[in-house]
Amino acid sequence: MDFSLTEEQELLRKTVRQFVDKEINPYIREWDEKQHFESSILTHLADLGLMGVCIPEQYGGSGMDYNALAIVCEELERGDTAFRTAVSVHTGLNSMTLLQWGNEEQKQKYLTPQARGEKVGAFGLTEPNAGSDVAAMQTAAVREGDYYILNGSKTWISLCDVADHFLVFAYTDKSKKHHGISAFIVERKWEGFSSKAIKGKLGIRAGNTGELFFDNVRIPKENLLGQEGEGFKIAMSALDNGRFTVAAGACGTIMASLEASLKYCHERSTFGKEIGKHQLVQQMIAKMEAGLQQSRLLVFRAGWLKNQGKRNTRETSLAKWQACDYAWEAANDAVQIHGAYGFSNEYPVERYLRNAKAPVIYEGTREIHTVMQAEYVLGYREDKPLSNTLPAWPFEVVKETVK
Ligand SMILES: Cc1cc2nc3c(=O)[nH]c(=O)nc-3n(C[C@H](O)[C@H](O)[C@H](O)COP(=O)(O)OP(=O)(O)OC[C@H]3O[C@@H](n4cnc5c(N)ncnc54)[C@H](O)[C@@H]3O)c2cc1C
Repeated sequence: MDFSLTEEQELLRKTVRQFVDKEINPYIREWDEKQHFESSILTHLADLGLMGVCIPEQYGGSGMDYNALAIVCEELERGDTAFRTAVSVHTGLNSMTLLQWGNEEQKQKYLTPQARGEKVGAFGLTEPNAGSDVAAMQTAAVREGDYYILNGSKTWISLCDVADHFLVFAYTDKSKKHHGISAFIVERKWEGFSSKAIKGKLGIRAGNTGELFFDNVRIPKENLLGQEGEGFKIAMSALDNGRFTVAAGACGTIMASLEASLKYCHERSTFGKEIGKHQLVQQMIAKMEAGLQQSRLLVFRAGWLKNQGKRNTRETSLAKWQACDYAWEAANDAVQIHGAYGFSNEYPVERYLRNAKAPVIYEGTREIHTVMQAEYVLGYREDKPLSNTLPAWPFEVVKETVK
């Protein structure tokens, strides 16, 4: 067991932290107020090699390990959840899924420009009537010659107006339920595709989230990811990576909540002493520290399993559930520590609290992860090996991964 970060990982943390302090923190209050997604941040991230940090160099990435992705997510969310969410969907849900399930042609055509940050990827699973219950989806793709004709809609899709490529899940045979769902790579520029942002969100207001519409979109058959009917499996394996990034990001919210609270504890005095000297305030600080350290251990364990090429659905789910709950509590306590000032956007903690709600809902709600963990322990749920696995790290030059 080795709990230390490598020199390269330490340098990565420092680089992202400096970037966030210079390019995000001075402007984020205004972006949040205006519900503005600042897409130039993605260009900066690409310049730093952070849009494909854990994608092999062979496919345009930086070739670092999976815990390097966790570090990027922690540090980005210390700035704002919106940009970590962007990396979660681009790298965690989309690019890593292409790495795991794509054939060589798909990796060259879609993964490589995404890892370089020349193109942006997103993930379209949720529908108006299908969130936790994925199989309730209605979007369908019908094969016609060399094309699939896609009709339907998705909602709550991060980067809906920004991404160039979307992984879209649709029924190719509804009678087979979960086994009738397939995964497709869909390009924004195709006829029949449109998107619309959702405004008035509680949090992640500096992020871009919204709907996708497919009106007879013609998908070339080469853009089927994996085999017909493998879509549900592909979506769930994508979530193993997305949830990992969400859990890591939650550590960033805890860090930011702690940082702001520590500063305020030393600045504010009541009853003749700094509020940090009151034991009930110390209790909130201690809980934040415990939450950060515990969450980080769970995240790095999941990353360690990914580095070994081992299945980590159970461990990632636990990390996501716990880290997001801790982040929500930490942000709530940070507002409490700031008293009335915490209730105003003069201080960043109200934004942390609003932002911390969505991660308790997306990529598996708190309830879904609670049920998953109970089922694992009770022996009702067991993970079977997948036909396609995420490559272990250090990466070898990989050949064709789809049989
Ligand atoms: C900001 C934001 C960004 C998002 N980005 C994306 C994205 O990029 N791509 C994408 O595909 N989706 C995205 N989503 C959607 C998100 O993944 C879904 O909202 C989530 O899966 C929950 O689905 P739902 O909202 O339909 O809630 P529902 O599934 O309708 O759940 C409603 C309530 O019932 C509970 N519940 C449901 N089933 C059970 C059960 N079996 N046991 C116990 N309780 C249960 C839930 O926990 C919840 O409390 C995003 C959502 C948000 C808020």
